[in-house]
Parts: sequence; structure tokens; C-alpha cells
Amino acid sequence: MSEKYDVIVIGAGPAGYVAAIRAAQLGLKAACVDAFAGKDGKQALGGTCLNVGCIPSKALLDSSRQFHNLTHNFGVHGITADNAKIDVPTFIGRKDKIVKQFTGGVAQLFKANKITPYFGTGKLLKGNSVEITGPDGTKQTISATNVILASGSVPIELPFAKFDNKMILDNAGALDLAEVPKRLGVIGAGVIGLELGSVWKRLGSDVTILEALPDFLSVADADVAKVAAREFAKQGLTIKLGAKLTKADIKKKEVHLTYEDKDGAHELVVDKLLVAVGRRAYTAGLLADDTGVKLDERGRIVVDEHNHTGVDGVWAIGDAVRGPMLAHKGSEEGVAVAEWIAGKAGHVNLDTVPWVIYTEPEIAWAGKTEKQLKDEGVPYKVGSFPFAAIGRAVAMNEAVGQVKMIAHAETDRILGVHMVGPGVSELIAECVVAMEFKGSSEDLARIVHAHPTLSEAVHEAALSVDKRAIHKGN
Ligand code: FAD
Ligand code: NAD
Repeated sequence: MSEKYDVIVIGAGPAGYVAAIRAAQLGLKAACVDAFAGKDGKQALGGTCLNVGCIPSKALLDSSRQFHNLTHNFGVHGITADNAKIDVPTFIGRKDKIVKQFTGGVAQLFKANKITPYFGTGKLLKGNSVEITGPDGTKQTISATNVILASGSVPIELPFAKFDNKMILDNAGALDLAEVPKRLGVIGAGVIGLELGSVWKRLGSDVTILEALPDFLSVADADVAKVAAREFAKQGLTIKLGAKLTKADIKKKEVHLTYEDKDGAHELVVDKLLVAVGRRAYTAGLLADDTGVKLDERGRIVVDEHNHTGVDGVWAIGDAVRGPMLAHKGSEEGVAVAEWIAGKAGHVNLDTVPWVIYTEPEIAWAGKTEKQLKDEGVPYKVGSFPFAAIGRAVAMNEAVGQVKMIAHAETDRILGVHMVGPGVSELIAECVVAMEFKGSSEDLARIVHAHPTLSEAVHEAALSVDKRAIHKGN
């Protein structure tokens, strides 16, 4: 007889493993099936995020930032270091250790919560059974009252630039290079292109990013995108807008690119090419034909506002469903679904999910951009404050960027906050809290912020909405 659970989760990324833990906390008997194998061929829980996404990219961003500061920014502090060098195997090895620590940490959490991990590919069968095919091809079937699909996403491949992870790289390949490429081409000036392009640029690569759209970082607020574009240009990142790749030929140890922009066709020769043109929901082999679970036109699992698929006891969360492809969004959905299954009141507010891009300067936002509000005809007022007037930022020699706050013109409710500058990955949290509490700019303006801190930029931006910032003209 097959093993029976209250909940089976397919996928142990930040959506799936968090769902399994929350289900176990609520007293449900939980199992989690995942196919991801680490460099040693053993099961590595944690999905894209822990293995080849959030965590390894932040490890490399941090190491490369230290190197860049040492070689470019420490002089002003009176600190010099002759012949600074980067040892790439150590740089990559540190990242690998961090990944192992965290994937092993999930295994420990599973043990502590009595969650059964299964290593293999899970397929949902009609009636809420899951067929698991192990790495050696052996099959077993387990069943549950509830199944949570958390199969995540994979990088989109361009038909004429197929990934080989030697010359043409996806995110996993770009996180694992053996040496600094002399010339790195990047397709897509999105989140991955900017983060991983920055990593290798800081270590000395000549990085050229080709972006198909005519506007830079159009998902962000235009004022933030403008500052970011200026700073990236200063750092020597070449970003070509309105540039569409049409060909990528591997010739010996080079990739020969052809791209088109408004001036016609151009050639570019690079040593490695990173293709980062977005990700798509991954559902290959996940669903038997007769489960009744539906996919939308973009291949995402269709769910309602409670992440229910419409099939009794089948739920879906994370990158595999609608909404932003972010780890914290998936984790919150995982918690909420486990709570709904246990008969409790789960909650996810997709309107306040924060975005952070971990470049230098960092970029962070939550809520609506000015353009979105204009398009929706919502009356609004704007306040902003530059880090150049923040004592702490100047003392850190990182006085670049600004905080921009948008509030409703009549009610003063905060509708969006957009930041570019030092530490904004942390500063955005305060604004998300305020927005979740349906707070106004007046609320933030009346809260004491420690001096001297970067958070004073949020305080001053809130004051500036009402034209009463203290440390700038209004
Ligand atoms: P995933 O993390 O993709 O996990 C899905 C898991 O399911 C995988 O282990 C997969 O092998 C497994 N699986 C799939 N199908 C099956 C099956 N049939 N049977 C068994 N197992 C299966 N987000 C952030 O919020 N912050 C960041 O800083 C950030 N940085 C990123 C950097 C990079 C380079 C990349 C690529 C992504 C980054 N992301 C970041 C996005 C983040 O990684 C994803 O949003 C997140 O991992 C999605 O979580 P998930 O659990 O839905 O899916
Ligand atoms: P993305 O959607 O952020 O950016 C892709 C970019 O490629 C877009 O600007 C798009 O216009 C461009 N593009 C698409 N097709 C193109 C083509 N043929 N030629 C040139 N440009 C083209 O996607 P991504 O950078 O691949 O990242 C995928 C997702 O992973 C992100 O959207 C995000 O959800 C997640 N992620 C998050 C973080 C973070 O939170 N810090 C970091 C990395 C990835």
C-alpha cells in the first residue's frame, strides 16, 4: 500500500519547502518531493533560490563588491592595497559552501519537523496520488488529502542561442565560471542581467548588455531607472537599449553575436554569453493528462486568489503560478496554503510584495509606480529625498540615489515607494509595513527615525510629500 500523507508538496524551493514546514507546524503529516541534485549528485533542497538563484548570486555580489571597493573606492578613506587580486576558485568555492550550508539547513529543518523528503520527479495523478521517479528510474507512488504544486520556473531559452553552460550560459552557468571572462555579453537588462553582469564587471570583465526594449528597467519607476542607468554607465557597464539579438554563433573560444537596433545590424564578439531574458513556469512531466489542473496561455498553473487549482485538494504556489517570480512571494503563498488546508485564515497581499535588485546602488520598490497611477487616473502627490543630504550616506561615501514616496492626493495613503541608493534593500521593509497597515505619508513623517541613519531618507521623503522636508528645499 502506498504511503499516505495529509500534504504532499512537489518542489522544495522557497515556496514548497516553506509550505511543507508550515503544514508540519500545524500538525499535518507532510512529505516533499524534489528532483534538484547538487554538484555531488545528491539531493539539494531549496530549489532555484538556494542552489542557483537568490543565495549564490548574493554571495558573489557581496564578494565582488568587496573587491570593487578595495580596487576603486577605498582610496578616498586613505586605504590602499597594492596588487589586489581575486582568486576565482576561492570566490566560487565560498559561494558553494554557503549554498551547501543552506540546502543542508533545509534538510535539517525537514528532519526537525518530521517531513519526509523524496528525491525524484513527482507527477500528480488523478485522485491526489503522486508518482515519484527517482534518479535511478525506480518508481513509487504516495498519496495525500492535499497536494501542493511548487515546481518553480526555468530560464527562457532563445532558439538561436541554446544554453550549453560552457559558452552560452543561463543563471547556473554564470554563477559558476572558472575564470573571469575578458568579454561578457548579456542578453536582457533585467534583474539577472544587471546583478550577474555587475558581478563579473566588478572582477574586470568587459560587460555589454543587450536589451530588446527601448526603455531601461521599465518595470521600475522612471526616476529610479534614470539614476540606476547613470550609475551603471559610470561603472562601465555598457547597456544597449532597443537591441535585439538575431544570431549567436560559437566559433572556437568566442561567441559571435549579431544584433539589430534602430541603426541596423551590428556584430559583437564575446568570450561568454549570459542569456537572461526572463523565466517561465516549469511544469514538464508534473501533471498526468486527466488531473483537471489547468495551465494558462503562459504555461502557468491556473489558481484562484487562494492558490487553489479548482481540483479538490490541489493547490499551486510560487513561480509556477501568476504574480511576481520572487522567493518571498512564493514562501508567503506556501504559508497561506498550509494554513488554508489546516482550516486557518491564510493571507497574501500581492499588492505589497517588495522588489529588490541587489546592484550597486541597490534598487527597491513596493506598490505602484508614478506611471501606473497616471495610467489608472489615480490622483497622487510625490515626495522625494536624495541620499546626498543624508549624513550617514555621506559618511559611508555612498551618497547616491534617492527615496521617492507616492501618496494618494486626497487620502494621503501611501501607494508606492521607490528607492535607489545604499541599503535600500532593508529600508523598503518599513514602507511595506506602513502600506500593509494602510498607512499615510503623514504616519511615517510623524515617526522618530534614528540619526544618523539611512532610514532618515524615508522619513524626509515622507515629509517631502507634504512639502516640509527639513534638509532640502521643497
Ligand atoms: P523554485 O525555487 O524554482 O523551486 C522549484 C523546485 O521544484 C526545484 O528544486 C525543482 O527542481 C523542483 N521541481 C520542479 N518540478 C518538479 C517535479 N515534477 N518533481 C520534483 N521536483 C520538481 N528572488 C528573490 O526574491 N530574491 C532574489 O534575490 C532572487 N535572486 C535570484 C537570482 C537568480 C540568478 C535567479 C535565477 C532567481 C532569483 N530569484 C530571486 C527568484 C527566485 O529564485 C524564485 O522566485 C524562487 O526560487 C521561486 O521559488 P519556487 O519555490 O516557486 O520555485
Ligand atoms: P527579467 O524579466 O527581469 O528581465 C529580462 C529582460 O530581458 C527584460 O528587460 C526583457 O525586456 C529582456 N528581453 C527579453 N527578450 C529579449 C531578447 N530577445 N533580447 C534582449 N532582451 C530581451 O528576467 P531575468 O533577469 O531573466 O530574471 C527572471 C526573474 O527572476 C526576474 O523577473 C525575477 O522575477 C527573478 N529574479 C529576481 C531577483 C531579485 O529579486 N533580486 C534576481 C534575479 C532574478
